Amino acid sequence: MLTIAERWAQVRAEIAHAARDAGRSEDDVMLLAVSKRHPAESIREAYDAGARHFGENYLQEALDKQAQLTDLPLHWHFIGPLQSNKTREVAEHFEWVHSVDRFKLARRLSEQRPEHLPPLNICLQVNVSGESSKSGVSPTEVEPLAEAVMELPHIRLRGLMCIPAPETDVERQRRPFDMLAEQLRMLRHQHPQAELDTLSMGMSGDLPAAIAAGSTLVRVGTGIFGPRPA
Ligand SMILES: *Cc1c(COP(=O)(O)O)cnc(C)c1O
Repeated sequence: MLTIAERWAQVRAEIAHAARDAGRSEDDVMLLAVSKRHPAESIREAYDAGARHFGENYLQEALDKQAQLTDLPLHWHFIGPLQSNKTREVAEHFEWVHSVDRFKLARRLSEQRPEHLPPLNICLQVNVSGESSKSGVSPTEVEPLAEAVMELPHIRLRGLMCIPAPETDVERQRRPFDMLAEQLRMLRHQHPQAELDTLSMGMSGDLPAAIAAGSTLVRVGTGIFGPRPA
């Protein structure tokens, strides 16, 4: 059994290697430690290994762990499916939300973001695999949604996020990532003044393909913490 510190070092090395292969700097790829279903103690271990940004999917679980970790300067990202009745607590307790896929959620997050906090960073989740069961805005609706979201006062639209259908073949893994990268390029071209610097894509199983396609933020759970407890 590897320790969290050893796993963290392995994932950092994998990122460095993939970045080098792609002619990119590893400093341009943020590593988000996805701690869902892992206890606060594991988050402390990851912090000691160097992790600062943590991703959580379930609101109540995240709030419980945040309450146990107030002594650490952690940056919290909400990455799970978001319901409108949960937006207030997300707006109050997170710095980032990666899973915004409709205007109503963004509007509520903006309205409910406390005045004393900086604007909430958000990514629009795009349904790149076209499966009706998955959440995410359809690719054709990204642009109008992005334009509406950019007008909101307490939101900072940072980019796009995707969770493609699992694939083992690297070439197949790349297609949706290339598509998302192209969408961000188009948005940046249309809105050069916006701070659209984030492509949130790549998880434990498809990190190199995502980095080759231009990912700036990989979300890794299993690779850092090991298998999630049942
Ligand atoms: C769980 C999760 C991850 C991490 O998945 P691993 O395969 O454990 O690395 C990344 N992104 C999202 C949105 C997740 O829900």
